[in-house]
Amino acid sequence: MLARVKDVCKRNGLLILSVLSVIVGCLLGFFLRTRRLSQQEISYFQFPGELLMRMLKMLILPLVVSSLMSGLAALDAKTSSRLGIITVTYYLWTTFVAVIVGIIMVSIIHPGGAAQKENTEESGKPIMSSADALLDLIRNMFPANLVEATFKQYRTKSIPIIKSNKAASESTTRRIIIYGVQDENGSNVQNFALDITPPPEVMFKSEPGTSDGMNVLGIVIFSATMGIMLGRMGNSGVPLVSFCQCLNESVMKIVAVSVWYFPFGIVFLIAGKILEMDDPTAIGKKLGFYAITVVCGLVVHGLFILPMMYFFITKKNPIVFIRGILQALLIALATSSSSATLPITFKCLLENNHVDRRIARFVLPVGATINMDGTALYEAVAAIFIAQVNNYELDFGQIITISITATAASIGAAGIPQAGLVTMVIVLTSVGLPTDDITLIIAVDWALDRFRTMINVLGDALAAGIMAHVCRKEFTKDGDEVPLICETK
Ligand code: ASP
Repeated sequence: MLARVKDVCKRNGLLILSVLSVIVGCLLGFFLRTRRLSQQEISYFQFPGELLMRMLKMLILPLVVSSLMSGLAALDAKTSSRLGIITVTYYLWTTFVAVIVGIIMVSIIHPGGAAQKENTEESGKPIMSSADALLDLIRNMFPANLVEATFKQYRTKSIPIIKSNKAASESTTRRIIIYGVQDENGSNVQNFALDITPPPEVMFKSEPGTSDGMNVLGIVIFSATMGIMLGRMGNSGVPLVSFCQCLNESVMKIVAVSVWYFPFGIVFLIAGKILEMDDPTAIGKKLGFYAITVVCGLVVHGLFILPMMYFFITKKNPIVFIRGILQALLIALATSSSSATLPITFKCLLENNHVDRRIARFVLPVGATINMDGTALYEAVAAIFIAQVNNYELDFGQIITISITATAASIGAAGIPQAGLVTMVIVLTSVGLPTDDITLIIAVDWALDRFRTMINVLGDALAAGIMAHVCRKEFTKDGDEVPLICETK
């Protein structure tokens, strides 16, 4: 018995450490909240977690570029287009299913009721029109400057401009209401003047701007195109393909070493976030129900629908598969970023689930960019919640609009913390809901972001498992098809 426990601990040491680090992080965070640390002390405390994020982010660029270029170059044109079409169709389908699950959940639980709006903090997020958001998505697919795309993505800024209201400026008289406060006998004790002259109009002007954060979508499109072209070039493309294969292998070796730091980093990442969060008791009832609705939707989609799809398509046990990627799911929970989790998802899929690396190299980076089931589900729930809070009846056509735009908005969201909050503008404006009401859900978004990122990562990983099964005939040969100049073993 003892020998068995020892064996399990030895084989799953890192996973056990990661689970423990999440628990220790939560306990430590809640304990330190009682100590009322200063902002500066909190920022020092968060430093080891910040290092973990920096390590992961450092690996994204070489990993995405090398895996897509070498992965797609290794496939012939027919296989790469078949894999590409099946993968993208599967991604769109599962995202749409996630949105439907979200809509069903929010309709059953009805968290918004006929509630008063909760008083929450002001939004610091940029507000833009849905047209600008959609155009930015397309612009980001074609970065004008590849070097700039490694650290910035294009985002239109909305600049408030004050325009004098025509009606107000034309009127010669100001509109003023005089009212008074009366005593019990009915005589006025004090008079007040209320100026109701129409206020000046505030307009938003769109201006080009850039925001921090890598333009992963642009890099994915460029690397995938390069990979396909390299594959078609035959022998003349081999040196570059071999370079990418070497790069990919070496990045994975860095990942294998750095994972031992992760449990330590997770403790500080989670505890640091708990120290920063608002007082949980201040969260309103409606907001609590909204959070429960999102979490229930994510559980149904992530623990029932996606695993069932995996089971029906592959006839394999989804629990075994999910166990293999547990460490990636914990990193997603700690970092709230599916892009940052990418190196660990790769490692888990290759080492624990033995997914063909040519498939993983294509399916995972594309998935981390466009396949966000958790984000899509959350966007649909949040939009309908905001409608409910505003007592706004949505008709069937508007529900369909929400499901389509939530799918599009999740594709446009980057795999970084709280990216979904920004692209939600697309969903809200599509059905005429007030974009300012995004502020209603900000208080709980940091926590929901962690759970939806886990589902985003789970969706990508299961997709890789399904693609490995569906395309198994094309991938019967082991290893890479392009001869290697650099030995990667
Ligand atoms: N944080 C999510 C991710 O990285 C995106 C989002 O929904 O905000 O996958």
